[in-house]
Amino acid sequence: MQQIVYVDGSFVPAADAKVSVFDRGFLFADGIYEVSAVLDGKLIDNDSHLARLQRSVGEIALALPVTLQRIVDIQKELIARNDLTDGLVYLQVTRGAAIPRDFAFPKHPKPTLVMFASAKDIVNAASAKTGIGVVTVPDIRWARRDIKSVALLAQVLAKQAAAEAGCAEAWMIEDGKVTEGGSSSAFILTQDDVLVTRQNSSAILPGCTRKAVMKLAEERQLRVEERAFSVDEALAGKEAFITSASLFVQAVVTIDGRTVANGKPGPMTTRLREIYVEFARATAV
Ligand code: PLP
Repeated sequence: MQQIVYVDGSFVPAADAKVSVFDRGFLFADGIYEVSAVLDGKLIDNDSHLARLQRSVGEIALALPVTLQRIVDIQKELIARNDLTDGLVYLQVTRGAAIPRDFAFPKHPKPTLVMFASAKDIVNAASAKTGIGVVTVPDIRWARRDIKSVALLAQVLAKQAAAEAGCAEAWMIEDGKVTEGGSSSAFILTQDDVLVTRQNSSAILPGCTRKAVMKLAEERQLRVEERAFSVDEALAGKEAFITSASLFVQAVVTIDGRTVANGKPGPMTTRLREIYVEFARATAV
């Protein structure tokens, strides 16, 4: 089946989709993106992603070209047109094409909105059963990581380093502490059974899955602490895991080749994954 994508008001076969070479997303990474998961053809935790989208565009003074309700309608139409059961819907909005190339905003920007859907079996992913390895890299990103910018070169390099080491994710390190994963939030479970994840600030992206997992954990009387942690603390802990829309909750079983606990997904991570999947299915729209 031919993939159908959305570009600026039209649903077109992927091969026919076009964006100008003068698009500021392409020239300056002047744009914002979001990714929502899909289970059984329904969107997961989508309001949280749309709220973050609205905040991100606001932080770069970019007006969405359509309403949030229209975005939801397009997401649903992409799911339907592509016959998507489980996977992801990606959206990207940029400050549009402007000639000549100039750093400052164009006077009358015409934002470009591109959206597409892709299939992925998030629930039955093999890595959810085995856990994943991570490598550590210095966090070389800009100072506004709370904005979900399409400027992802630092993460591209981090995740390439991970791939070359046979790992699925990179943990980025700043001042001796983990900021987050290349495309995920980082958690550990201490020997005292405290879930620890870095506090939101401009140093990290406020993960939607992180937020939901923290709430689900607190509702179950688990202790959650928002603070930075080091790799040594992760290695001394009981469990480590990552969260994101594209993988939900997955155990981290090695860090730079050193095993976390017994090198297998721990019971807390496994349980939180189950709880998240239940939440996802129960609240899908
Ligand atoms: N941190 C970064 C840097 C990310 O790119 C992502 C997702 O892409 C996340 C965290 C996880 O966010 P979410 O749970 O909203 O997918």
